[in-house]
Amino acid sequence: MNETNLRKEIIDTARKLNSTGLSLQNSGNVSGRWGNRMLITPSGVPYHELTTSDIIDAGFDGSFEHPRFRPSSEWHFHGAIYRERPDVQAIVHTHSAHATAVACTGQDIPAFHYMVAVAGGNSIRCADYATFGTEELARLTVTALEDRRACLLANHGQVATGSSASTAFALAEQVEELARHYMLALQLGNVQYLDDEEMARVLDKFKSYGQNPNQESERVSR
Ligand code: 13P
Ligand code: ZN
Repeated sequence: MNETNLRKEIIDTARKLNSTGLSLQNSGNVSGRWGNRMLITPSGVPYHELTTSDIIDAGFDGSFEHPRFRPSSEWHFHGAIYRERPDVQAIVHTHSAHATAVACTGQDIPAFHYMVAVAGGNSIRCADYATFGTEELARLTVTALEDRRACLLANHGQVATGSSASTAFALAEQVEELARHYMLALQLGNVQYLDDEEMARVLDKFKSYGQNPNQESERVSR
């Protein structure tokens, strides 16, 4: 993808945060890896006002040059994730309602539903609380994301990663839906949790879930 298209994808994703209700106004932020740097939404600018030149080219250390805007205040955790996780190409951070509600209890989302595996393991961890826009929050976020693609941030929201801004967005939507299901299940009580063995089976099945063109050609040629 060229730089302009990545800038457009970041803006489209940020606007989808608003249109889907995942984030109100300019809460949350979106970035994409761009070589050894990142392209990231500016701090505090409403998404509907953004143009491609407003997306900021920043170093993982927060260095940038831009005539009008500063990068998202959360450049610390965006930069730290790109530095520590070569598998991550894009990051979406939101204060989506249910994920944030669970995060305000400081709890992980446990294996109450098999889809918890979509985030890469048998739980979606909640990073301990630290003030927004700090190196401490960046450190705690990277820790909570170990072997995972998403995590909650205590008393704050959630972070989802992906191979593109749109896959990171899709995961943020899934995390929000799982948090909603978890809260509903907790209201009913007697939640039955899946054990590690079952979650390992689900994680394994996810590797070949959906339409795999190689599998299809094997089936047709047999
Ligand atoms: P920015 O507008 O600086 O990206 O901050 C929004 C946010 O969600 C802080 O955690
Ligand atoms: Zn935030």
